[in-house]
Amino acid sequence: MSKFHLETLAVHAGQNPKGDPATYARAVPVYRTTAYNFRDSKHGADLFGLRELGNIYARLMNPTNDVLAQRIAALEGGAAAQTLASGTAAIFFTVTNIARAGDEVVAADNLYGGTFSQFDAILPNAGIKVNFTPVNDFAAVEAAINERTRLLFVESVGNPALDIADLDGYAAIARKHHLPLVVDATFTPPPLLRAIDHGADLVIHSLSKWIGGHGAGIGGVVVDAGKFDWTDPKFALYNEPDAGYHGLRFAHDLPDPLKPVAFSLRLLTVGIRNQGPTLAPDAAWIFLQGVESLPLRIARHSENALAVAKHLAAHPKVAWVKYPSLSQPELAAKYLPNGAGGMVVFGVKGGADEARRFADALNGEIFSLLANVGDAKSLVIHPASTTHSQLSDEDLRKGGVLPELVRLSIGIEHIDDILAELDRALG
Ligand SMILES: *Cc1c(COP(=O)(O)O)cnc(C)c1O
Repeated sequence: MSKFHLETLAVHAGQNPKGDPATYARAVPVYRTTAYNFRDSKHGADLFGLRELGNIYARLMNPTNDVLAQRIAALEGGAAAQTLASGTAAIFFTVTNIARAGDEVVAADNLYGGTFSQFDAILPNAGIKVNFTPVNDFAAVEAAINERTRLLFVESVGNPALDIADLDGYAAIARKHHLPLVVDATFTPPPLLRAIDHGADLVIHSLSKWIGGHGAGIGGVVVDAGKFDWTDPKFALYNEPDAGYHGLRFAHDLPDPLKPVAFSLRLLTVGIRNQGPTLAPDAAWIFLQGVESLPLRIARHSENALAVAKHLAAHPKVAWVKYPSLSQPELAAKYLPNGAGGMVVFGVKGGADEARRFADALNGEIFSLLANVGDAKSLVIHPASTTHSQLSDEDLRKGGVLPELVRLSIGIEHIDDILAELDRALG
């Protein structure tokens, strides 16, 4: 399918346009089953022995999830993808599919609040240390890398400060030290950005946001570019016999055509199969409905958000505004030429109290006050008192979460209605 444009792939990739193989259903069916019948005992034995490929049990195989994984892989230009129960699980199981106790990670310090807590407070309990560095500070990244480092982690556009990561710079450092570059691209789904084109080895999305696009479910996905060489002995999980999968050495013992996607296969057969972060097929089906219109929606999100940023910048009650293509025009021209996404952050004059008052005034006509982004509906939140309230003042400042910062996720409503609501609430 790769000859087709992204808009076409969003509608068709991963599915045979002639319909479902069993029923000819044109829409992707939801396969609500826990297990799959064996024709007979020999068939079951052949499936378990990998002499024949086929479905066994839905913790690790489901045709609905499979269409979604293939579709996202096609949109990102990757070789394979795995769906998981949440974006958070996609991040955790990506890191633990590369690093083990004693290993380290170098990550940007402007991460989504939940990811920051996972890296800062939870991975250390598993013996994995994360070194945080200011985004795009490549001297700091170089200084943080040592012989125990196993991956670089960055968000394409950080949350909530909306800094654009200079991915080419990160990719150059990753190549120099032979480390995989992992990019959480949730804020910039295709066709805004294809991080693999800029050197990412693994691309993660929370499907719960713009890809699903309707605030109707939780899910995550990891796309494997299929380009990283895992035979470097420092990646012990790929070079030592894997007790989690019959002693297989994932960098060496897979058949040649599967070697490039060793990461993805290990994530499926060790992470998902035996640790269980499986995406429910009903959620996968919801996300498939969203993906079909992703290119249309994300263009409108970006157009509306840019108009909101320009409007707020001229408002007397607004202290400052941040929108990626306005605050970092050069990086935006390079990485986000098709639009800079649906997020706008700004400071309300008067500090935290006024920011909270504004959010309360805006809540309830079009905008909803809640902890989500990437819905077709416009959303507002005051991060310092909610999503990021567990962080210390110092970590808040490092992540760019100022007390007066209001975060808007701009929906696909008519722009005149959105602007009128913002003016009403500021008034
Ligand atoms: C929401 C989000 C996540 C977490 O995804 P869930 O699906 O909510 O677990 C991770 N990273 C970013 C950038 C997000 O916006």
